[in-house]
Amino acid sequence: MHTLTAEAQSKITPETAVQLLKKGNLRFLEGIRQKREFATQIAETASGQYPFACILGCIDSRVPIRLIFDQGIGDVFGATVAGNIVNEDILGSLEFGCKIAGAKLVVVLGHTSCGAVKGACDKAELGNLTSLLAKINPAIQNVKEPTDPTQRTSQNSSFVDAVALENIKLTVQNIKTYSNVLRDMEERGAIKIIGAIYNVKNGEVSFLD
Ligand SMILES: [Zn+2]
Repeated sequence: MHTLTAEAQSKITPETAVQLLKKGNLRFLEGIRQKREFATQIAETASGQYPFACILGCIDSRVPIRLIFDQGIGDVFGATVAGNIVNEDILGSLEFGCKIAGAKLVVVLGHTSCGAVKGACDKAELGNLTSLLAKINPAIQNVKEPTDPTQRTSQNSSFVDAVALENIKLTVQNIKTYSNVLRDMEERGAIKIIGAIYNVKNGEVSFLD
């Protein structure tokens, strides 16, 4: 596996960037990792980086974003925050990754059985976590079923995963709404902004579109 160069990055389109991640997740699932010499990749990236994608994931230890896509040094930007939500700093990071550093794709990567989503469903409160979890409330409100409040808690795994899915979609929408830079790039076809969900039971990533 070659370390990405400016020329290699320039040839990647938003569509092929999606394919690179899909193929990487397949390799991860099959246990066939690309052979990489990290010492070589360190040397090759020391003077610059040309990643093809930005991945916004959750901090969850079961979802190591570069491992699950079988990516090496210099391949992808990774931003992680509990519940894969956006704020100004995350948006700024994604804008840097795409506009300045040339990435062709933004992936909002949520996952099943997400602790942040569970906390939001249970209206958990703890220090600075309270305001973070509040950012997941719109996703909870968008999931209409079940209506019984006792079924809308972390105990109901299908509800939790439905909220996680909705939260991914809303985060994609929030990126387009609150980042003029990224919205303009997508409208010009320079990047794509898409969602995906990782299944902690089997390691599989499903892209939402
Ligand atoms: Zn999570």
